Amino acid sequence: MLVLDDVTVRYGDRPAVDGISLDVADHEVVSVLGPSGSGKSTLLRAVAGLQPVAGGRVLLGGRDLAGVPAHRRGVGLMFQDQQLFPHRDVGGNVSFGLRMHGAPRAAARERVAELLALVGLPGAERRSVGALSGGEQQRVALARALAPSPQLLMLDEPLGQLDRSLRERLVVELRQLFGRLGTTVLAVTHDQGEAFALADRVVVMRDGHVAQSGTPVEVWERPADEFVARFLGFANVVRATVRGAEAETPWGRVGVAASGAPGAGASGERSLLIRPAGVRVGPAGSGLECTVEGRTFRGEQVLLALRPERGPSLEASVALRGAPQAGDRVGVGFEASEVVVLGE
Ligand code: ADP
Repeated sequence: MLVLDDVTVRYGDRPAVDGISLDVADHEVVSVLGPSGSGKSTLLRAVAGLQPVAGGRVLLGGRDLAGVPAHRRGVGLMFQDQQLFPHRDVGGNVSFGLRMHGAPRAAARERVAELLALVGLPGAERRSVGALSGGEQQRVALARALAPSPQLLMLDEPLGQLDRSLRERLVVELRQLFGRLGTTVLAVTHDQGEAFALADRVVVMRDGHVAQSGTPVEVWERPADEFVARFLGFANVVRATVRGAEAETPWGRVGVAASGAPGAGASGERSLLIRPAGVRVGPAGSGLECTVEGRTFRGEQVLLALRPERGPSLEASVALRGAPQAGDRVGVGFEASEVVVLGE
């Protein structure tokens, strides 16, 4: 449905998007994720026609979009900097695009009612947008973007302004809504929780390039390289000497997962990730001696910061019940299934 073929976007001489190729299938929800400045918004703006493309092609439903102005592209936008119209009521905001496309008044009214019901604000047509909560405003913005039935819906940090609990609830609702409508979505976010919860596929960007593209499970379980692993918040990443199913690390010898990982089957000097769930914590006197330096509450789990007798500090995720206290001495072993050889 959407094809980006070797797309480059520059500001002056500097490429913000540097030769990116990316396909989004019909009905697919793709989240573009990456640190601030990696080129996510620029990519979205280029697809929307708000930013000229310096090289490559953007095709939507087989049509080359070169020279097609933004309002003729058949894409719906929900961007952070596109506020609701404060002087129009909710209905006036949602019907704006419909009226622009020449929809008759009665048909527009019906469609607005349908969309407001869809986003959980039935009958809100006459409410003033100034009297809405942040979450309600986001819903109205979403209804407005969906109103002209765009081929592609593009969201830029759609829930960025909202507080955490509301965001977590809305992201679940959005996913259900897109599934029900069969909407094709390209969303941009710097929040990995949001990206992983929303998307069928996650694209991680770094400096204008795609660092990894895969299902949320693939990316989470097998980050492509050290950059992606660290961006996802994994701290136990070290250089190691890998030989077959074993690796020599600063923490001693560990077994490595046999297959599936980007660097699987590799040997030699590699980056190695040990997921915190793969750091087994037992009584002192067995395995690698560590001191517990800190504990972070994570609901049912506790994240332990460990100072090992040798090598850099380690993070371990353990059950809340029976978790050791700061200052305790513990013995640590490693679960091979949670040890991943990363790509270079
Ligand atoms: P992200 O959305 O991932 O935060 P952006 O696409 O906004 O990244 O920015 C990518 C790069 O392009 C950054 O280095 C940013 O400073 C630069 N950039 C973005 N917008 C402009 C602009 N209007 N003029 C010049 N440089 C820009």
